[in-house]
Amino acid sequence: MEKNILPDKNGYFGNYGGQYISDELKQEFNRIEKAFIEAKEDIEFNNKLNYLLTNYVGRPSPVYYAENLSKKYKNNIYLKREDLNHTGAHKINHCLGEVMLAKRMGKKKVIAETGAGQHGVALATAAALLGLECDIYMGETDIQKEKPNVDRMKILKAKVISVKSGAGTLKEAVDEAFKAYINDYKNVMYAIGSVVGPHPFPMIVEYFQSIVGKEARRQFVEQKGVLPDAIIACVGGGSNSIGLFNGFLNDESVEIYGVEPLGKGERAGENAASITFGKDGILHGFKCKLLQDKNGNILNAYSVASGLDYPGVGPKHCYLNDIGRVKYVTVNDNEAINAFYELSELEGIIPALESSHALAYAFKLSKEAENKNILVNLSGRGDKDIDFVINRYPKN
Ligand SMILES: *Cc1c(COP(=O)(O)O)cnc(C)c1O
Repeated sequence: MEKNILPDKNGYFGNYGGQYISDELKQEFNRIEKAFIEAKEDIEFNNKLNYLLTNYVGRPSPVYYAENLSKKYKNNIYLKREDLNHTGAHKINHCLGEVMLAKRMGKKKVIAETGAGQHGVALATAAALLGLECDIYMGETDIQKEKPNVDRMKILKAKVISVKSGAGTLKEAVDEAFKAYINDYKNVMYAIGSVVGPHPFPMIVEYFQSIVGKEARRQFVEQKGVLPDAIIACVGGGSNSIGLFNGFLNDESVEIYGVEPLGKGERAGENAASITFGKDGILHGFKCKLLQDKNGNILNAYSVASGLDYPGVGPKHCYLNDIGRVKYVTVNDNEAINAFYELSELEGIIPALESSHALAYAFKLSKEAENKNILVNLSGRGDKDIDFVINRYPKN
């Protein structure tokens, strides 16, 4: 079965996705979709994007055999090193694409939300490079937790707007950014931070992230002569994971794991595991598995990793869960923190707390298996998390 699935003409992956927005906005989103499809086929657009991915971002990012970890866990653990990208995570891959698309459409400004600040920094970077204005909406709680990234955005000449409503995290930031966008969509492009939002955004972000899986499959086969037995990535909105997964969806022998944040536990408000605990609902203009109470009120999402605490998840992940091609599993805060320290101590690589979730699941899998080839997407580096971890989870 062909599983490199595109959405249907209404923007659905199975039951999920779509466009729950006004008719006026639908017309604008149709223009964005048309511009995207044209850009994809345009040799000049692709040449420029490929040039920047190679010489500005530093792609391809390596696949690294983590020998010390592998010995300890009795499996061969490989890391796709998205942490080595310019700006320190996978997000630059779709930000360059989105800003190039905005520029192609004649927009003057990009607007976005950010959680950990990684998307904000990556977008501000791409906007600085390509000469567009950039407004970033960020929850007040996240602003305090991720100060270095806030400062980076300011240095890059982006405007950082503090969002004080609700828990002051990612969901509220999306709400406010979307409001600002709707008021000025003729001049502005919404540059969403993951494979979420109304169609065509999930499809667009997925397209620009798919380079991760394309590279990883080729690199892995070059190094090992076989495909990996299992691939693992963390799932917030789902962009780094779908980027990796797309390279392997049609390889039936490859087990695929999407790791959701269990946070402090299974109770409402303690985690952000949308597929594991969510029910079908609509958020930010699209249908997905959504954390909600029995009256349909959206729950606060929580994870120690700011970049994962979103109550919804990309529609294609919901579909891949339905058809059983990807297994969605969970890792809690403490397991992620342990993995954060372990990779640092054994390999000299400080991972992002988000990526630490994927790594922690590789360790869990290792309890059940031996001598398997496991490829983990190391979606970002941990510089942004160092202050927080040292203060809140000191190693004793
Ligand atoms: C934002 C972020 C994530 C989560 O976003 P996805 O869209 O699920 O990939 C994961 N890892 C890092 C390093 C991030 O910055």
